[in-house]
Parts: sequence; C-alpha cells; structure tokens
Amino acid sequence: MDFRSYMDVALEEARAAGGRGEVPVGAVIVGPAGVIAQAGNRTRELHDPTAHAEILAIRAACAALGQERLTGYDLYVTLEPCPMCAAAISNARIARLYYGAADPKSGGVAQGPRIFQHAQCHHAPEVYDGIAAQPSEALLKDFFAAKR
Ligand SMILES: [Zn+2]
Repeated sequence: MDFRSYMDVALEEARAAGGRGEVPVGAVIVGPAGVIAQAGNRTRELHDPTAHAEILAIRAACAALGQERLTGYDLYVTLEPCPMCAAAISNARIARLYYGAADPKSGGVAQGPRIFQHAQCHHAPEVYDGIAAQPSEALLKDFFAAKR
C-alpha cells in the first residue's frame, strides 16, 4: 500500500489559523474513506484554551461518526501535540500520529511528560515525527517573529 501523507492538508489549516491571528497549527484526521475532519487552532476566536487544532479535529471527527472513539483513524498535526492533546489522542484511540515540528517548549510526546510512555496511558498510537517538519516549523517561526 502506498503511503499518502495528509500533512499538506494540515499545513493548509495551520496557514489559515495564522491568518486568523492564531498560533499556526493545523490537524487532520484520516480514516478508511480519507479526510474526515480538519481544523486549525481557534483558542482566541472561541475564547477557549482547549481549542487546539487536534482537539477540534477529534471533536469534529467523533461528531461526524457519532462515536467517542476513532479506532483505526490517523491524526496528522503540524506540531508535536501538547500533553492535553496527547491525552485526548490516547482517549480517542487514534491508531497513528504523524506530526511535523518538535515542540521543546510545550510538547508532551517526545519530551516533557511523554504522555504515551506513561504507565497510566491506556492506549498509545504509533508515532511518526518529523513529517514536513521544516515548513511546519517555518510557519511558527514567522508567526512569532512577526509578533516581536
Ligand atoms: Zn494541544
């Protein structure tokens, strides 16, 4: 089977988030029939600190499917998930996680609390990092450079 990366869709969502003045992070959830949900950060717009791209995409995918788990589904996100999103990914039973840039400051997968390696983590997805890391990182760098 050919591997098809959906990181281009996640990057589009990240760019759109940046255009809305949000931290430019985008996420996509893919199942057997292709993309089921995609989202970018909306924490400012929604006045919601939990409105990270991953959370919004998981909510939309679960709503579309009418179920609380995404067993067998894959999540693509441009930035290493934070601890909150990593826990949500675990709870959603996401099969595979593909992410772009590492997040030394707030990441919860390969650094910090390393949620999926925790004894209390009941489901860990397969993790593939560094997918389109360069453009993902460039978006974030440009966004924060413009703020200064
Ligand atoms: Zn998050």
